[in-house]
Amino acid sequence: MRAGEVSRVGVVGAGTMGSGIAHVLALAGIEVRLVDVAPEALGRARASIERNLARQARRELISTDEAGAALDRITAERSLAALEDADVVVEAASEDPTLKFRLFEELSAVVNPETLLASNTSSISITLIASHAADPGRVIGMHFMNPVPVMRLVEVIRGLETSDDTADLTLGLCARLSKTAVLANDYPGFVANRILMPMINEAVYCLMEGVAEVEAVDTVMKLGMNHPMGPLALADLIGLDTCLAIMRVLHAEFGDSKYRPCPLLAKYVAAGRLGRKSGRGFYDYTAA
Ligand code: NAD
Repeated sequence: MRAGEVSRVGVVGAGTMGSGIAHVLALAGIEVRLVDVAPEALGRARASIERNLARQARRELISTDEAGAALDRITAERSLAALEDADVVVEAASEDPTLKFRLFEELSAVVNPETLLASNTSSISITLIASHAADPGRVIGMHFMNPVPVMRLVEVIRGLETSDDTADLTLGLCARLSKTAVLANDYPGFVANRILMPMINEAVYCLMEGVAEVEAVDTVMKLGMNHPMGPLALADLIGLDTCLAIMRVLHAEFGDSKYRPCPLLAKYVAAGRLGRKSGRGFYDYTAA
């Protein structure tokens, strides 16, 4: 199959990333089935996709007709069974290895043998995820960036067994979504999170050790290093639970203490301060 022929894509997980991925697929004219086990996540995803499409229409990046048509192409589903005729599935469920392994086993039993199975994992080995699928050759990493409708990069990760056809179709699909794909090999965190997460983790250590307050840490990195956003604000955008999960994967896979998650990060997650998605992380979003 060629990227231009992809007409139906399943997205598993309707959180921060799944809703953004559904948004860009639907805008490219693709029918999307968005699956989540949590009905409230599906409701929130639809509302945020509608809001983000309307914002793009207000800025005249797309027409109101295009926004409406894109929304109509997305259906919310509670079960993987809805993906039986999908050409491609992009898994964007929580960053939990056991969950992803189970999902790839279940997806293999539902989809047809030609369906491409991509994971949006930030750090979990694509080779390991693929070993849980019926055909590891059809499995690849498709690591979108947050917020998906805005960010141009997709990090494409080939597992050990990923076939050339799978890689070609994935690169073609990225081009169809007007994204720039960069190929990376399958090592923990790939490129993006191998570099980004230790920086965020170090920023949390600065806060924990009293080196500087939240705003000061972020201002140093914005004005001093020309980052568009400080690391603590970025952690809130990504989700502190996702950051912690990625640090745990880096720590476990490399076995190097330099990747140990900062205890303050773990404490925030334990308290339910997950960042923007829960209303509070390093910053407070409840008034916004
Ligand atoms: P999130 O917590 O916002 O959403 C995860 C969703 O998965 C939730 O709605 C949850 O209900 C759903 N889910 C859990 N179990 C499921 C199941 N069995 N079937 C279907 N849905 C299920 O998380 P997120 O930030 O959207 O992250 C999703 C994936 O994308 C993770 O692998 C993460 O590492 C990766 N990622 C995140 C970012 C980011 O900035 N947040 C960036 C790139 C990649």
